[in-house]
Amino acid sequence: MPKMRAAQIAKPKAPIEIVEREIPAPRAGEVRIKVQACGICHSDSMVKEGLWPGIQYPRVPGHEVAGVIDEVGLGVARWKVGERVGVGWHGGSCGYCDACRHGDFFACQTQNLVTGITSDGGYAEYMIAPTDAVAALPAELDPIEAAPLMCAGITMFNALRNSGARPGDQVAVLGLGGLGHLGVQFAAKMGFRTIAIARGADKEALARQLGASKYIDNSRSDPAAELTKLGGAKAILATVTESGAMAATIGGLAPNGILMVIGAVGPMTFDPLMILTRRQSIKGWYAGTSIDSEDTLAFSVLSGVRSMNEVVPFARVAEGYDCMMSGSARFRVVLDMK
Ligand SMILES: [Zn+2]
Ligand SMILES: [Zn+2]
Repeated sequence: MPKMRAAQIAKPKAPIEIVEREIPAPRAGEVRIKVQACGICHSDSMVKEGLWPGIQYPRVPGHEVAGVIDEVGLGVARWKVGERVGVGWHGGSCGYCDACRHGDFFACQTQNLVTGITSDGGYAEYMIAPTDAVAALPAELDPIEAAPLMCAGITMFNALRNSGARPGDQVAVLGLGGLGHLGVQFAAKMGFRTIAIARGADKEALARQLGASKYIDNSRSDPAAELTKLGGAKAILATVTESGAMAATIGGLAPNGILMVIGAVGPMTFDPLMILTRRQSIKGWYAGTSIDSEDTLAFSVLSGVRSMNEVVPFARVAEGYDCMMSGSARFRVVLDMK
């Protein structure tokens, strides 16, 4: 059997190790992808630290995949060998349960498939994906450009377009990291008056360069008070991983405004009176399905939204992961499989 290199986690809290494995064969309804690039996402720590219930180890993480279809299983009508594709967090759904028939594929009741969590992901030279988890890549984006859009990009794009905010409305993006630097770009290009909120005066120039019309330094001022002075935000995309910083923005929502919770954080405390008298909501959001990925990629091509990436060769995957976890990465770390 031909072999490939894969970066696996042998058990919770074990180091990332590059091993040799047999190249997997696609079953019916699946395709095999020759991986060209894979983004390193904070959610990969769910595998590394054993935080997702029921993970079977060893596991290969990675759900920001860009590559080329290399083999097609039986009964796959949609894809052909040689097509450029990507795979994100959503790892497929059954199509026949009640949730799927309502169009809520993310809530599939029969199989909760997550790329790189319930099956091996893109930290490898090859991976398998169910046909409905696969998105076509546009010719205008190379694999390194496309990969981070498969999780960070789609999450921001999809959260914004499902926030209820309309063009011209004021929208805030909390955090200017891997997610936030894309969120600011998408919000500005979608026609929102975009406010970036982050720690430190030094990030203002970047925020404005990404398209923000206002910048709030939440280490020096109260973001809720500042947002209120500006008329309040119809939507706030909270990308940070600290719940106190998220809660501190709620008072800056406009009437009927919505806090879109995207960063995975611990328990959050807020005063219900504050949101009920102003009819506001707090909603969770994650990524989307493969067609949402295609929409994200198409909008990125149309509008010029791009992730800023630190590219790391596959051999240095562990170093790339540490760089992402430490928060020192500017802004997204992407594995180059060449
Ligand atoms: Zn992710
Ligand atoms: Zn289903």
